[in-house]
Amino acid sequence: AKEAGGGVYAAYHPKMHDALMQRLSLADDLRLALERDELVLHYQPTVDLTSGEIVGFEALVRWNHPTRGMVPPLDFIGVAESTGLIVPLGRWVLAEACRQAVAWGRPLKMAVNVSVRQFEAGDLALTVAEVLAETGMPADQLCLEMTESVLLTDTDENLARIVSLKALGVMLAMDDFGTGYSSLAYLRRFPMDVLKIDRSFVDRLGSGDAEDETLVRTIVRLGQRFGMKTVAEGVENAAQVAVLREMTCDYGQGYFLSRPLPSAEATRLLETGLPS
Ligand code: C2E
Ligand code: CA
Ligand code: CA
Ligand code: CA
Repeated sequence: AKEAGGGVYAAYHPKMHDALMQRLSLADDLRLALERDELVLHYQPTVDLTSGEIVGFEALVRWNHPTRGMVPPLDFIGVAESTGLIVPLGRWVLAEACRQAVAWGRPLKMAVNVSVRQFEAGDLALTVAEVLAETGMPADQLCLEMTESVLLTDTDENLARIVSLKALGVMLAMDDFGTGYSSLAYLRRFPMDVLKIDRSFVDRLGSGDAEDETLVRTIVRLGQRFGMKTVAEGVENAAQVAVLREMTCDYGQGYFLSRPLPSAEATRLLETGLPS
């Protein structure tokens, strides 16, 4: 893009120019970050709401930037997607998460986020198969989380992609459930194993509002009717845990249970267990 010369950008408002230049430099930095091992994964436990046991973790990427500090994923996943860097980045995340799960040596689920671009560019099923083989990760311990936007383009091609991922024996989760469009149709069409109830619904639980509770209860039942495990995202207090348990939601994730943790802290938590 630099070769385009100054003239092309002259038509833009200076602020847009700045924003564009920032994105370009971020893209360059991100390319180097991959080579320089600046990306790290934090792991947030998924907790069985009945037993209180940790059943798995979700891997969440961060960029340990030399000058900007710990950069959250929402600040660079977009750039990674628009530049195509999401493909090598996503592969690294998959491999690192699997290496960690294998190192723990316990039958824990490891959930990894997969973005639309990653899903549609290249052969994700092949990448996953390679990573499983490289790391020795049992397929049934890996869960790929995708948002409804992945399923939005409800084409036969995408269905075929989902089917070939399932054929590897990995689990599939529908992330942020309830925030996209015509969610219900996807449940019929795609063989998902896990339904993650978006934080925005969980947020309003436990405040005594009957309608908010009805909504979440209905989503939990819907998941159960389709044979899916249900996970509530963004659990922030004990009242929410109580309501979700009463609704027979299977698992919870959120700051009240545990924040996402660096590898060493997650390992320690596995040894001590969550405070009850
Ligand atoms: P997500 O998949 O919905 O992940 C959950 C986000 O909610 C995480 O933010 C997590 O730290 C945060 N969270 C967890 N519990 C709570 C809570 O109780 N309250 C609140 N307010 N937030 C909570 P994070 O790590 O900043 O990630 C943001 C998003 O970035 C993720 O949303 C996911 O869409 C994306 N992302 C993260 N890692 C990856 C990755 O490796 N690949 C791709 N493609 N996307 C990723
Ligand atoms: Ca997720
Ligand atoms: Ca989510
Ligand atoms: Ca979310």
